[in-house]
Amino acid sequence: MRTVPGPTDHVVIVGAGLGGLAAALHLAGSGRRVTVVEREAVPGGRCGLIADRGYRFDTGPTVLTMPELLAEAFAAVGESMADRLTLHRLDPAYRARFADGSSIDVRSDTDAMADGIATTFGARDADGYRRFVAFLHELYRIEMPHFIARNLDSPLQLVGTPLARLAAMGGFGRLDHLVARYVADDRLRRLFSFQAMYAGLAPSRALAIYAVITYMDCVRGVHFPAGGMHAVPRAMAAAAEDHGVEFRYGTTVTRVDVRAGRARGVITADGERIAADVVLVNADLPSAYAELLPPGSAPRRLRRLRYSPSAVVLHTGSTFSHPDAAHHTIDFGRSWDDTFTEIIDRGRVMSDPSFLVTSPSHTDPALAPAGRHTHYVLFPAPNLAGDVDWTGERERYRDHMVATLERRGYTGFGGAIEVEHLTTPADWRAQGMTMGAPFAAAHTFGQTGPFRAPTLDRRIDGLVFCGSNTQPGVGVPMVLVSGRLAAERVTGTKMDR
Ligand SMILES: Cc1cc2nc3c(=O)[nH]c(=O)nc-3n(C[C@H](O)[C@H](O)[C@H](O)COP(=O)(O)OP(=O)(O)OC[C@H]3O[C@@H](n4cnc5c(N)ncnc54)[C@H](O)[C@@H]3O)c2cc1C
Repeated sequence: MRTVPGPTDHVVIVGAGLGGLAAALHLAGSGRRVTVVEREAVPGGRCGLIADRGYRFDTGPTVLTMPELLAEAFAAVGESMADRLTLHRLDPAYRARFADGSSIDVRSDTDAMADGIATTFGARDADGYRRFVAFLHELYRIEMPHFIARNLDSPLQLVGTPLARLAAMGGFGRLDHLVARYVADDRLRRLFSFQAMYAGLAPSRALAIYAVITYMDCVRGVHFPAGGMHAVPRAMAAAAEDHGVEFRYGTTVTRVDVRAGRARGVITADGERIAADVVLVNADLPSAYAELLPPGSAPRRLRRLRYSPSAVVLHTGSTFSHPDAAHHTIDFGRSWDDTFTEIIDRGRVMSDPSFLVTSPSHTDPALAPAGRHTHYVLFPAPNLAGDVDWTGERERYRDHMVATLERRGYTGFGGAIEVEHLTTPADWRAQGMTMGAPFAAAHTFGQTGPFRAPTLDRRIDGLVFCGSNTQPGVGVPMVLVSGRLAAERVTGTKMDR
């Protein structure tokens, strides 16, 4: 593993997103002095909070998987996650509703899930599911240490038995073909392959290795923190602060100070220079190269990045409560392949939407005033490479989302709204996300593993990155890993526990 040369005593981290916070905890645990500079008034980045008239809305991630990776970050400073965060395991993890009116609860207990499949889809698919779970356990066992939780400087590092094993398992085939090997029913195939969207791809284009997301989701289980997802960065920042990390909130970095080929600190919007031995950037990586680093420092590969699709998120605080509510409900439309073609290839909105409805107050009533509820409705959408003029379309699309919900059985949803907030791809762009893509660069083959931006810059000494545009990739578990991998570039030692 390549590491930062020279002194590494004081690390300045640009951004208190989940990746930056994980890096801060690992570095503080290794005895480094750490200063986190964050432009917002609170930690969390995409895992933010809107508080409005007694409602509390999480702005970004809602599906929390792999809490052991979070626990690992707390353990880096000798803390127990349980002392800082109360997590509820969601059962069901999701409720899936299909266009033909059928539905199934996704449960992480394999027997309970197989029983549910047997009842709705038949014994053959229930057996297939059990075999699929066995396959996923093995896939994860090989993939996690060798391909995900590891700094990769060259594809050659991957050559060896685990790669051969992954290839033999069909890991480099297509995800939809893999799932079809185990379950026959088209609805189940959708349920176990839609996670490709988290990686920015259609299931027919995603590599089968991305079934590891299905594993984290459906098999390892989904959790929800008391107080909402934003409680996660709050707890991480509080632990970091208690272990000596200095936070400078409300402070925007305008430039990384690079002299004689080394990052030597950051310059803030009010002209202050904060000196550092290492600068660790958690801000969106392509934006950081464009705006914070000297012209021409961006690696060539960043000029041709393909971005994941985006999303429109409608937050509502209302009197509405669905009689069949689960914490997370995925509502599948009739159309499937065409949906991916529309949002990924054609840059258009979905004509027959599949979407996620999350109802956090279902689990934690304290997130809404008494007798009220919060709903988070996420419609996948094209990123800004597409044709949609989100300024002009904004209100029309909001109305379309509400009308779609009403048609799909959320009767009375629109009329019950008291408070609402809408975020479109244009808003994600305004928050600094290149191409309005909150899910970062897509995980195409050429943007995965050793081909994704490494956590260490190759040309500027003392410059390290973490976050969803770096290795290993997007999503809460992956950015927590990226924070640790970035810390390892600084300390030169493996830090997994
Ligand atoms: C709508 C949505 C839904 C999602 N759903 C899920 C989900 O259910 N499950 C899941 O696992 N993942 C989900 N994700 C993805 C997940 O939230 C992200 O991958 C992850 O939070 C990104 O973390 P990050 O470390 O890359 O940093 P970011 O969250 O991007 O944080 C970067 C930080 O840097 C700060 N910053 C930027 N520029 C500067 C500057 N110049 N000076 C100072 N500070 C700066 C920003 O303010 C920000 O706080 C979702 C994301 C979104 C947006």
